[in-house]
Amino acid sequence: MADSPVYVCPFHRSTLKIKGGSARCPRCDASYAIENEIWILDTVHRADRLAFDEQVEASPIPLDKSKAERHMQAAGIGRLHRARILDAGCGLGDMAYGLACHPHIKSSDIYAFDHSIASVRQAMSNVGQPANGNRVYFSTQDASSLFFGDSSFDLVAGSAVLHHITDYRLFLRQIFRILKRDGVAIFSEPFFEGYFWPCFLLHLAAQELHLESLAGPEFGMADFMLKDTAYRVQNADDVAALDPLTDKHYFRAEILSSLAAELGFRGVRFQNVEPARFYDCWMPHFLDVYQIQHEPLRRKAMQLYDELRSYAGPALPAIAPHFRYIVLQK
Ligand SMILES: [Zn+2]
Repeated sequence: MADSPVYVCPFHRSTLKIKGGSARCPRCDASYAIENEIWILDTVHRADRLAFDEQVEASPIPLDKSKAERHMQAAGIGRLHRARILDAGCGLGDMAYGLACHPHIKSSDIYAFDHSIASVRQAMSNVGQPANGNRVYFSTQDASSLFFGDSSFDLVAGSAVLHHITDYRLFLRQIFRILKRDGVAIFSEPFFEGYFWPCFLLHLAAQELHLESLAGPEFGMADFMLKDTAYRVQNADDVAALDPLTDKHYFRAEILSSLAAELGFRGVRFQNVEPARFYDCWMPHFLDVYQIQHEPLRRKAMQLYDELRSYAGPALPAIAPHFRYIVLQK
């Protein structure tokens, strides 16, 4: 037990060595703090990381204990033995927790990183003691320069992480590099259609009701969602415009497919996170999530969504998927 984790200088590809309580690259002598076993490897300081730190400290969210199992199933992975697994953007540690105590993951090294130090501290406490001879190593890292060696992971898993990363193309290029041959990466992320449709229908509903303004507590986050979604859709190709946002991207399957091919992945497939019946009630759920309580607006928006639902029929989950798994095969 308690072997040291292996981290690699992203500039020199040398393995960092522990020296006097910190980690050092033997080539460039850059030094990184190790704080209560968390390796502090982020060399980029960004405002959006501080937003995550504040969010974690303000409101701890209960762990989603089935997250790892659902991602394993969607990735088609039954068991992992003596494997190296990466939880990319570990947040509060749901995925790392589920991997570390999964009955079919044994004697494996699980690396979990996030750019938010407050999240990593919370994740470490949430994960607790791993089972089955698994080990979990925590670090803070920035998505733009990962401290992992080439061909070092069997599985990379991330939940709602890619859409926070401005240059997710560069990030996926690194994921390809650090995956072993035949390794798999799986991410669950928000897709364009599943947010565009409810927002567009909500916009139409507000217009039909001649609502001049959506300010006021009864409208919840309606105004924000309509403006934010339009902005993200219209600026989808403008990295500089999206960079200041915390939630930056809505994904599109055709763009990810061509990116995956360009990066060298053997294949990419997509699978809705929610079952088909979820989309019968996506609009009321959307209205609840964004605290939109104005009754006439809710009724009109749901009526328009019902029109979409009956027009699309069984194709609705394919037309308006909001969260999908992205499975990349190296
Ligand atoms: Zn170095």
